[in-house]
Amino acid sequence: MAFHPPLRDDLRGDAPYGAPQIDVPHLMNVNENPFPPSPEFIAHLQEAVGRAATGLNRYPDREFLDLRARLGAYLAADADLPAPIPAEQMWVANGSNEIMQQVFTAFGGPGRRALAFAPHYSMYPEYARNTLTEFVTEERGSAPGFELTDQMVLAGIERHDPTIVLLTSPNNPTGTALSLDLVRTAARTLEERGAILVVDEAYAEFRHAGVPSALSVLDEHPNLIVSRTMAKAFALAGARVGYMAAPRPLVDAVRVVRLPYHLSAIAQAVAHAALDFTDELLGSVAFLRQQRDELAAFLTGRGHDVAQSDSNFILFGTFADRRAVFEALLQRGVLIREVGPDGWLRVSVGSAEDNQAFRTALEEIDPA
Ligand code: PMP
Repeated sequence: MAFHPPLRDDLRGDAPYGAPQIDVPHLMNVNENPFPPSPEFIAHLQEAVGRAATGLNRYPDREFLDLRARLGAYLAADADLPAPIPAEQMWVANGSNEIMQQVFTAFGGPGRRALAFAPHYSMYPEYARNTLTEFVTEERGSAPGFELTDQMVLAGIERHDPTIVLLTSPNNPTGTALSLDLVRTAARTLEERGAILVVDEAYAEFRHAGVPSALSVLDEHPNLIVSRTMAKAFALAGARVGYMAAPRPLVDAVRVVRLPYHLSAIAQAVAHAALDFTDELLGSVAFLRQQRDELAAFLTGRGHDVAQSDSNFILFGTFADRRAVFEALLQRGVLIREVGPDGWLRVSVGSAEDNQAFRTALEEIDPA
């Protein structure tokens, strides 16, 4: 008789999450940074990894306070804070996905609820499922703005009484950034209810000048976690380094549930090496922002609805048959993403060549 693995009932029939990984010339589907490491950075990485390799018989530093301090200093510079965020208020894991799952493990669980606003990043329900947390959603505002208002957030909190609220700024897949007032209102309301607010800022470095980070109000709220990643602006998606800033008791709670030595010595060495090259790595951000704005203008010029983006991707529509557009682009070597509300598509901003290939392909498929 065939063996049936005793999979948890709630996981039966679920498929592993993931966007298609297809080998085509223009990969514009998972919001990666299109620029590979430079030869100078690769040499520096090799040296750093080589040094770490000499101690690989030992477990890595479990607390990596040096790395946390450096990331705290980096965030202070990015968000224009008066002082570095102390190491004890920082935490690092294998991508912000792991950060989030650790946060859900610490603060979610059976009998607890997490609230997000749709359209949202597709992994949110999976962190909840994996940690046996109930996942509920409310809708963001209507297209093409997809604005989230204080009223929507407060009504959602009132309706669902969540322990965790996930807000994303800029939001994936819409690109929409949040105001500081909204973050403050949500954090204050949740504090009164004994709940936490997680602001996912995976794409924060791509925001327009003058758009604030939730880090600006980190000191005002005992229940606020801000999550970031090296996968996007730092162009290190392959290294799997995500991190968060939060008041110390929240970081300490997450430390309780992390697996020991979860962040390998190699990942730590790569993160340090990347911080040594911060200026070079972030050098692409200004270019990508400019390309994003040009791409948005191009799409608007063609008569599409375009969600205002503070990120490195653009949600645009609407198409009667978005699947057909997606596939016709793919045939021309351009891989984008079929995600978001019906009729919309999301394109990640690529190199100048990627973006040109996307424009040309779209014009061929769908002449204006
Ligand atoms: N948050 C958002 C909103 C994302 O879009 C992503 C990646 N697509 C992540 C978190 C996870 O990023 P990583 O685990 O690579 O840091």
